Amino acid sequence: MFEYAPAPESRDIVDIRPSYGLFINGEWVEPQSEARHKTVNPATEEVLAEVAWAGEADVDRAVQAAAKAFPVWSAMPGAERAKYLFRIARLIQERARELAVLETLDNGKPIRESRDVDLPLVAAHFFYYAGWADKLAYAGFGPDPRPLGVAGQVIPWNFPLLMLAWKIAPALACGNTVVLKPAETTPLTALAFADICRQADLPPGVVNIVTGAGETGAALVNHPGVDKVAFTGSTEVGRLIARSLAGTRKKLTLELGGKAANIVFEDAPLDQAVEGVVNGIFFNQGHVCCAGSRLLVQESIAADLLEALKRRLGTMRLGDPLDKNTDIGAINSAEQLAKIRELSEAGEAEGAERWSPACPIPDRGYWFPPTVFTGVAQSHRIAREEIFGPVLSVLTFRTPAEAVEKANNTPYGLSAGVWTEKGSLMLWTASRLRAGVVWSNTFNRFDPTSPFGGYKESGYGREGGRHGLEGYLAL
Ligand code: NAP
Ligand code: MG
Repeated sequence: MFEYAPAPESRDIVDIRPSYGLFINGEWVEPQSEARHKTVNPATEEVLAEVAWAGEADVDRAVQAAAKAFPVWSAMPGAERAKYLFRIARLIQERARELAVLETLDNGKPIRESRDVDLPLVAAHFFYYAGWADKLAYAGFGPDPRPLGVAGQVIPWNFPLLMLAWKIAPALACGNTVVLKPAETTPLTALAFADICRQADLPPGVVNIVTGAGETGAALVNHPGVDKVAFTGSTEVGRLIARSLAGTRKKLTLELGGKAANIVFEDAPLDQAVEGVVNGIFFNQGHVCCAGSRLLVQESIAADLLEALKRRLGTMRLGDPLDKNTDIGAINSAEQLAKIRELSEAGEAEGAERWSPACPIPDRGYWFPPTVFTGVAQSHRIAREEIFGPVLSVLTFRTPAEAVEKANNTPYGLSAGVWTEKGSLMLWTASRLRAGVVWSNTFNRFDPTSPFGGYKESGYGREGGRHGLEGYLAL
């Protein structure tokens, strides 16, 4: 066996300023609010930069800038708006390495993922929606669909730049202007995106970025000048937002949590299924809304599958996210780490059996080893609540009907996976799963042309594809 030599990506390519203001009306402005917060690298706990904490007055200024830009942007022919979006997409590609390193520094995800998954998808989203900007009249929403106005967008920390792309690209393509609030712990790529908007000569006020915490997000979604709210985050906060927007004219889309089942039938190709299960829950440290966090395996193959899974997990490399050989990076924040620990302890206390491979943990930073729970009952908290970490709960079933029953036994419904060689069984199962996305013999596969969104408490509205235009048009 060969040892791996370190293969760190250089961080010299990124230029992080010590302190950032807000991006409003095409310019960097100092916030009126004096509060600031620091964003850290979760792999080292090193402070990366100090970021503004926008207050109500700052949010108001951003919304006003977006409202002022709206008549010009929305009146521009779609083909002209498309030019800006194509330009942004190309700039993202040109700066992909820099943005990938920045994302990994601020978020803790492995560079292999930010480089090979996040950034290509970010560019693809802008390219895809650039293509729609001059074809809205042919999208099936009537001959002259109109934009809504100012979109207030709030995103989480697990795919910072990708969630920004999911929000901003369709909004702009449809002729809306936006105010976006990135998550408190991962503001840096959104701030770099502001710079890309300047590079692309985007008209001032079309995109505004306000950093801050939950209160900033609340000030944005509740601002009377906002016409559309798009939120991705926890079901808990989504519920709060739905409540505060009820009865207003604002249009709302919610992309919330998940607790997906990954169902492996006995005829599935075992090694392929193991790779899919690993990718389903350990990709991005399990900080994935559609993660396959519940493995439902047919009883007849459960022992074999678990053995293969454990063997595979023994080869995963946890550590420096900037190392190109790293599979599992850092947990995004101390707060999230505490949540994962708490739920894992609850799993043990409730009687499930916990297992992790021997895995050295770095001294500094926030880390959690890949963890598998067996003997999990449907009533256990680890089978019901979203852990949002590298923790897999394994349950078994005997018949397809039982698999479907168990898979649907959750308040969530964002995604699911089905592993079988039989097309008829795959379709039978998929048509009975109450989930927005069902993958078969694959998992966590994303494409801008494909709609994504939830059933039940995973939210409403779709992002991606032609469906993704709907949330940004007055229909
Ligand atoms: P979160 O706590 O709900 O935060 C999401 C965003 O909302 C953050 O920017 C947050 O700011 C902000 N926020 C917090 N309180 C707010 C309020 N009262 N009003 C308005 N905005 C507020 O979620 P998270 O922990 O960052 O993200 C993890 C969750 O996102 C998971 O449940 C995951 O499943 C879900 N998610 C869903 C999808 C999807 O497409 N369905 C995709 C990715 C993630 P701060 O950062 O300052 O708290
Ligand atoms: Mg950070």
